[in-house]
Amino acid sequence: MTVLLTVDVEQDCPPYLETTRGMEEGLPLLLAILKEKGVIATFFVTGEMARKFPERIKEISRSGHEVGCHGDLHQRFDKLGWDQAKDSVVRGTETLEALLNRRPTSFRAPNLQMPTEYMELLENTGYRVDSSIAAYKPPFHRRPFYTGPMLRVPATITSSVLRLPLPLLKSCFKLLPSQPVFFLHPWELVDLSEEQIRLDCRLGTGDRLAENLSYLMDYYKGRGTRFITMQDLYEKQPQVRGDMPAGR
Ligand SMILES: [Zn+2]
Repeated sequence: MTVLLTVDVEQDCPPYLETTRGMEEGLPLLLAILKEKGVIATFFVTGEMARKFPERIKEISRSGHEVGCHGDLHQRFDKLGWDQAKDSVVRGTETLEALLNRRPTSFRAPNLQMPTEYMELLENTGYRVDSSIAAYKPPFHRRPFYTGPMLRVPATITSSVLRLPLPLLKSCFKLLPSQPVFFLHPWELVDLSEEQIRLDCRLGTGDRLAENLSYLMDYYKGRGTRFITMQDLYEKQPQVRGDMPAGR
């Protein structure tokens, strides 16, 4: 049994805010919780945040977590033309590679929006894992599957679920598949309840998420479940060529 914890590293609640409290306050707190629990995660980082907070991103990598790419700026790929999309993939990738001396191999597009025709851009830039899809959005893939050489890994539930009151969250855990893929953002660990953003974006931000995350890690570890990265998953997932989903 395995579980994946993934983190999209970006400015606070895009596109509503331009602040970076998540990078300054949320990320150090998250890294401390992960360290305390001995859990590894995959961080999808925008090129923009890597340029603004290079030491923070290096710290993620030094702590043993995987650093993947979340595009260059936090822009939806379904709103970008081919050249702009290519530019975002290449620029984000090169920024991370220059910073970490290692080319990222896992990608997640902002807002989990990556048009199928742009998968070629990822493949040509050296990516082997794409997690720009969600089990709760059409076409509702629930398990990882291959598109050509690319392992596609759906996020299981939306990040706001992790900010539910704990009794509700506990009920949700029981309904999840055997290899859940969670995602969250550093800004969700900062109390944004007073910000003028969508209700589902601000509810439960700050302490509640921090407490729920600790619970989540204990819950899965207590069941003998291992936390793995996207790269780990790629290495252990038998490749099924073609566009046939391995399970929906
Ligand atoms: Zn994002």
